[in-house]
Formats: sequence, C-alpha cells, structure tokens
Amino acid sequence: MEYEVVIGLEIHARINSKTKLFCRCSNDIFNEEPNAHTCMICMGNPGALPLTNKECVSKAIKAGLAMGCRVNEFNKFDRKSYFYPDLPMGYQITQFDIPVVEEGVVNISLEDGTNKDIRVNRIHIENDAGKLTHTAGGTLVDYNRAGTPLVEIVSEADIRSVEEASQYARQIQKIVRYVDASDANMERGQMRFDLNISLRPKGQEEFGIRAEVKNLNSFRSLEKAAEYEIKRQTEILSEGGTVVQETRGWDDDKEITVSQRSKEVAADYRYFPEPDIPPLLITKEMIQKLKDELPELPEVKAKRYQEELGLSSEIASQLAAASDLAKYFETALAIAGDAKKTANWILSELTAVWKEASIEASESKLSAENLGKLVKLIEEGTISNKIAKDIFEEVYNGDLDPEKVVEEKGLKVMSDSGELEKIVQEVVDRNEKIVSDYKGGNERAIGALVGQVMGATQGSANPKMVNEILRKLLG
Ligand code: ADP
Ligand code: MG
Ligand code: ZN
Repeated sequence: MEYEVVIGLEIHARINSKTKLFCRCSNDIFNEEPNAHTCMICMGNPGALPLTNKECVSKAIKAGLAMGCRVNEFNKFDRKSYFYPDLPMGYQITQFDIPVVEEGVVNISLEDGTNKDIRVNRIHIENDAGKLTHTAGGTLVDYNRAGTPLVEIVSEADIRSVEEASQYARQIQKIVRYVDASDANMERGQMRFDLNISLRPKGQEEFGIRAEVKNLNSFRSLEKAAEYEIKRQTEILSEGGTVVQETRGWDDDKEITVSQRSKEVAADYRYFPEPDIPPLLITKEMIQKLKDELPELPEVKAKRYQEELGLSSEIASQLAAASDLAKYFETALAIAGDAKKTANWILSELTAVWKEASIEASESKLSAENLGKLVKLIEEGTISNKIAKDIFEEVYNGDLDPEKVVEEKGLKVMSDSGELEKIVQEVVDRNEKIVSDYKGGNERAIGALVGQVMGATQGSANPKMVNEILRKLLG
C-alpha cells in the first residue's frame, strides 16, 4: 500500500528581549557563567511575584501579525504542572486555551517552483526551563535559561513531505528574524522543533496515529528525523502493525529516533489559569502601533521589486526572502543603477560563493558597495561582463574597489571614440561586400562588421560604441 505522510510542527523560538519573561534577569545567556542570571522569581521562590515583560508580548504579536494571525485582545497565562529538576517552579507558565495570537498562514516555496500555504494554528508565549548536563560525577543544572521567553508556533498538520517541513521551518526562522522577535540561531539553542508525524493510506482523509519527536535543534536533524520516521512507520504499517502514539527523542549520532515516554494528555498537566498574573488586555491601538512598526515583509518587498524595478516574480522573491539579502541588493543597486544586472550578479556569482562558504549575505567578504561599483562598470560599458568575471574572485576575496582594480590593470575597454573611429573606418574600407549588403537592407550584416572591429581590438572595444560609430559612418 502507498502511504502519505502528514506532519505538524511545533516550533519554539527564544524571544530576543533584554530580560526574561517574568523577571528582570538578563535574557542574554549564551556562554554565560552557569546560574549567573537567576533571581527569586525565575527560581520560583515562594511568594515571589512574576511581572509580565511587555517587550516579549509585543514581539510575539509582531511575529503573529507577520504570519497573518488574529490577535486575541483578551488572552491569559496558565500553569502547566510537571516535575523535573530543570524546572524550579514545578510548573511552566504558558498559554493554554487562549493564546496571544492564532489562525495564520505561512507561504513556502518548493523546489519544483510551486508555492504552498501552511496554516498556523496558534502562537503562544511561555517560559523555558533550565538546562541539565549529565557528567560522570553527577548531573549539573544551569538555571540561566529558566524563565527565558519563548514563542511556540504550532502549525496545522498541513505538511505533506520532508521538503515542505524543512521549507516551513526555514520560513518561520526568516519571519521571526524579519520582525526581530527572535534571533533564531540554532547553534545557540534559540530555535528548536517538535516534529509530529504520521502516515495514512493514500486517499484516506482521516489522519493516522502520530509520533512526536521532540527537541530537534537543526534543519538537518529535522529532515533526518522525518525521513527516519517515515521509514519506521511504513515498516510497522506494512506489516499490519499500529504505530504507538508516543514521544520520541532523536539520537544525532546514530541518526535514529528512540521511544522516550508514552504521550501525555492535557489532563496530565492539570492546567489552570495562572493566579499570579492578570490576563493580558491588548488594545486596538496597541495592535495598530505594532502593525505600523512592522518592517516590509518579504511578499510585499517582492511585489515592490517587480513593480518598481521590473524584476521577474521569481527573482524578486528570491531577493526579498531574507532581510540581509534584500538589504545587500538594495545597497548595491543604489550604486549600480541597473536592477536586473545587480540581481543577476547576486543570485548567480555571489550566491554560489556564499553557499560554498556556508555564509549569509550579511557575512559576505565583498561589501554591497563594491559589488555595486563592479556592476556599474559593466553597465557604463567601462568593462565587459567577461572582464568583470575574470577579476571577480580577486575583488571578492579582498573586498577591493573594482574601479581601482580596473584602473591599475588597464582593463578598461577602448572607449576613446577618435581612436575607435579610425579602426572602424579601416574595417569598413576592407569589407565592401558586407557594407553593400548592409546598405541593401540586410540589417544583420552589421554584426559581422562589429565582430571584425572587436577582433581588431582584441575584444577591448566597447561594443555599444562600435555599433553607434558604424551606423554613423554607414549613414
Ligand atoms: P498536543 O497537544 O499533543 O501537542 P496538538 O493538537 O497541539 O497536540 O498538535 C500538535 C501538533 O501535532 C500540531 O502541529 C498538529 O497539527 C500536529 N498533529 C496533530 N495530529 C497529527 C497527526 N495525526 N499527524 C501529524 N501531525 C499531527
Ligand atoms: Mg505538543
Ligand atoms: Zn530572574
């Protein structure tokens, strides 16, 4: 039997606020001394009262607005009880039945050129737990992370392939970065995925039984875990068995998922409204203000690139997809002047180099300004595209000013019109037959003459000028 995969993702992203969610401890915890950022509130001491961090709420709402979500003007926090040494309060403060925003949609682009909408069920705000490190001498606990703010972004189970899951996760990372809600740096533990995955016979409407693989902390492990689960569940179902609904973990070394515990249900957590925190009342004015503060989103930017710059929809959306790439493009364009040529250089030459080095546009060795100058030199006809490609590597590696490189190496195309006119005249004199063909109405004969001039100048003549001079001389 053929099976179809059904996936829903729960994505946790650390909100990049200055302080933690309910106290004044610093939220800047990467590589800090363990337990340096703790206080009575995030350690859950009796009587300590949490106070909601407005910056966290604003950032969560912005992320929601960027995904087209509806804001719940009334929303609230709830206690989710469970016991684990990394959770000093004995419960997590989260949002159970009324999240801050819900019902959005994220559009993803796929390899085959198609696009697809993945619905977002909800985004809620919650605090993180601390971190345990198991050593030979015992287990160590670091509470710096305890009480740091997270948004949990829950998708609908609309995802139908590993590629879609991966693209959706990448799109979420881009959006939370775009609106500056989260730095979403996975090496720093600022974003992680829970993968809900099931199979169903092709054509069946009802979902199958899912497994939930928790805490995947890279795109690669998300993809690998999904591939592994598809294989594992296919084997079980093909043999007539049933998938157990359970929570599984990912073993990054063995590249397998392993059973951790049976799936808990809401009742296990004994949720109830958090009595120490009043509900959040979000006014229409506040929502409007946050909307006004939103940066131009990728789709809007792409549309603008199409309409104002005449770029194709595919090129426009590629450039607009990430804020640092779009910024690089706009900075280079301001100098270069030609949108298509600038886009082309970025999406072919530069993207290839960046991919090779696994870096983003913001980390490019070549500044956007110097790329702009390079494209401008081509655009003005000072150098040919071929010469630009020849010097590209050198210019890129040293972030050199291409104008200087061209000057120093004497690479300018011949644009001295007096000198060129002489050469063109010689070519015309030597080619009576072609000239008369041209005068007799054969437009294309002029190409042969241009070719001869280029040959006579070893390719250094400015072709645009050669064309103009020829037309002038031939009348
Ligand atoms: P829980 O409360 O157990 O986390 P939710 O209903 O909140 O469950 O769903 C969590 C995620 O799992 C959502 O992204 C949802 O779309 C997805 N999901 C639910 N059922 C299935 C299923 N049968 N197969 C795959 N994903 C599922
Ligand atoms: Mg869940
Ligand atoms: Zn604290």
